[in-house]
Amino acid sequence: MRYSVVIGAVNGKFSEMFAKLATLHAKQNFAFAIIAGDLCANIGTAADADREELAKLLRGDITVPLSTYFALGAQSLPVEVVDVLEKNEGELCPNLSVLGRKASIKTSDSFRIVAVGGAHAGSGDQVVPQYAAYYTDSDAQAVGKGLTNADIVVTSDWPAHIRDGGESQYTVASPAETESIADLCTSLKPRYHFSASEAFYEREPFFHNGPTPRSVTRFISLAPYGNSAKQKWIYAFSLEPSADAPQNLPPGCTASPLTGTKKRKLDSQESDFNTFRYANGNGTDHYQPDYRRQKRSRNNAPPTPSQCYFCLSNPTCEKHMIGSIGSDVYLTTAKGPLSTRQTFPDLGFPGHILLIPVQHQPTISAMTPAETRKSIVTEMQQYRAALQSMLVEKPKGADGLAKLGAVTWEISRNSGVHLHWQFLPVPVDMVRRGLVEAGFDQEAANLNYPKFVKGFKEMEEIEEGNFFKVTIWSEALRKEMVMPLDGDFRFDLQFGRRVLGKLLGLEQRTHWKDCAQTVGEETADAEVFKEVFKKFDFGLEEEEVS
Ligand SMILES: [Zn+2]
Repeated sequence: MRYSVVIGAVNGKFSEMFAKLATLHAKQNFAFAIIAGDLCANIGTAADADREELAKLLRGDITVPLSTYFALGAQSLPVEVVDVLEKNEGELCPNLSVLGRKASIKTSDSFRIVAVGGAHAGSGDQVVPQYAAYYTDSDAQAVGKGLTNADIVVTSDWPAHIRDGGESQYTVASPAETESIADLCTSLKPRYHFSASEAFYEREPFFHNGPTPRSVTRFISLAPYGNSAKQKWIYAFSLEPSADAPQNLPPGCTASPLTGTKKRKLDSQESDFNTFRYANGNGTDHYQPDYRRQKRSRNNAPPTPSQCYFCLSNPTCEKHMIGSIGSDVYLTTAKGPLSTRQTFPDLGFPGHILLIPVQHQPTISAMTPAETRKSIVTEMQQYRAALQSMLVEKPKGADGLAKLGAVTWEISRNSGVHLHWQFLPVPVDMVRRGLVEAGFDQEAANLNYPKFVKGFKEMEEIEEGNFFKVTIWSEALRKEMVMPLDGDFRFDLQFGRRVLGKLLGLEQRTHWKDCAQTVGEETADAEVFKEVFKKFDFGLEEEEVS
């Protein structure tokens, strides 16, 4: 019987890892290899050496010794990788092919591999680009449709409850554990279910419900290649394609931990979640996180993506509020929105939206590489334009023009955490009469802040440093103004909300924390937003390849 191997995250160390794999392959003659974790280095933190390694791989200077499939991990793939995958139908270089966000393939040796990759992005059926690093519950359902079994399942997230009822301990932070991955594993009853994590984890094998002989799944999650703790990053397994279930259950085998606990889990998740958000005060960070006071004083390090509420890879990122996901940017309804459903009744939801690049950086200029930065800026602007078109569509005034305009504001500081734009509709009359502009000028003066700069050349200069930027828009007008934040003053992170709160008579809602909604209300608003925005969501125009 031939062995195959599964490997954890490679994180861009192609030369070393494939050389190592070649040595092992020379001895073992593996059937194929699976990379269950991130193949490439994180595009946000990639160093020159990582980029050089990637260039070598794409030039064909690195030999991939045997047929290797790589999962779409939790991180976005570099643009140049996506380009090649799109051109070559998923083949990155000879012997190296992507499994993708949702894939069901049969290898040349007739093994059925089903994969779901990327970070979990809610339950919706929003259309996601083919190689974007997200999946939805619908993706996980779709990929298993029509199949009753698989030899191997590979997922970036873990199945919910996978650690229940097992003895092996796993104490490091695990990937997100989701119900949809648990359901996929239950319906496909794979012989092996692979994932990748910070440390190695192997659960006791478990059997699925059904007549005997019962299918048995082994869940194994590999540590990254070259990890300093010397945890297992590679695992060899032998398997026959579509083999029958074993006659005898293996030693230590338990019942499946994946079924029958849904209700309980959902309830407890919700209460844990609320305790976490509202009791320990971290929820405040959701808006304009001021980690300098809270976290950095303790460990002197900026928050990582796993601690950041805007990072899709963070399990506590509020996926139920996501309205649209593009290639590099996503939209969510605002947590504790300044406006309410009553503020703009024509919209049917509060209308306060956040535009968030997927990349975890405090400013747009910190985003890398340069091409991605450009595409992020373009996509942010496209999304804003689409949101504005949505407002134009709404009932018109007597003059035939839209009744709503919009304000977008942005705080860009090197000491920030995860850049985003806030978008809020305003009555068009307020824009027309110059009240929005005057409101920002007036409040800046009240607080002794530097004056807003409005000339194009001067704005450009200021935008090279730390700044606060406001874009005021109506069908007939567009106005930008920028305030430098480099001076020696304490800038109120709620400044944008404070000004607009005064203008809209919503002063009592200046701080998001005073406007908390239930998860049910948040979900309902996000659903209305999605419905209203659907027509304008350019992401939806792309044909999805499955
Ligand atoms: Zn982040």
